[in-house]
Amino acid sequence: MRYRAVVFDLWETLIDWDRESAAAMLHEVDALVGDGFGERWNRSSTRYNAPIRVALAEAEVPEELHEEICALRLRYHRRALVPREGAVETLRRLREDGYLVGLITVCSEDVEVLWPESEFAGLFDAEVFSSSVGYSKPDPRIYLHCCELLGVEPREAVFVGDGANDELAGARQVGMDAILIHREGEGPLWPGLDDWDGPRVTSIPGVLDVLER
Ligand SMILES: [Mg+2]
Repeated sequence: MRYRAVVFDLWETLIDWDRESAAAMLHEVDALVGDGFGERWNRSSTRYNAPIRVALAEAEVPEELHEEICALRLRYHRRALVPREGAVETLRRLREDGYLVGLITVCSEDVEVLWPESEFAGLFDAEVFSSSVGYSKPDPRIYLHCCELLGVEPREAVFVGDGANDELAGARQVGMDAILIHREGEGPLWPGLDDWDGPRVTSIPGVLDVLER
């Protein structure tokens, strides 16, 4: 085997990132808070790198609204945290084949809170949530932390992602290989990836084919 570990991104990789639902959820929160909240949230440096209540406080959301906003956010994330077709089977298969399986996601705390009740629970050997480690992709530390949890060297691991947050270049920078995923019949979502020179797949099961090459 060329690699010992396969590390996945979450949004638009293992699950769909439905931009309309995400925008609707943020709109709902914005309507609740008002007073320019949306802009403050978009500028927030902690929304993905700290517990959600810390991020809400930084965005000047009154504490009496935190509970309602958290509930609303959890409803959205619960609907979003649904594995793409073939994802669960592929994660299981990788482990059966002897690979270690990791997750590195840039996310708010909501994802980590809901993780144990999601279909992904128990399918990974290491899970790294930016909201709990305090840094995001493409910070080298987030990849190195995951490799350390897995007990592998970066060169023994391959990262799979849609390329948000410059995550593919970030993986390569620490010595991992990287596989680009995008939707069938569409190009990559993010700038600079149209001429991606590494492997690409249009489904999670496609990763198995790349590994067999
Ligand atoms: Mg992604």
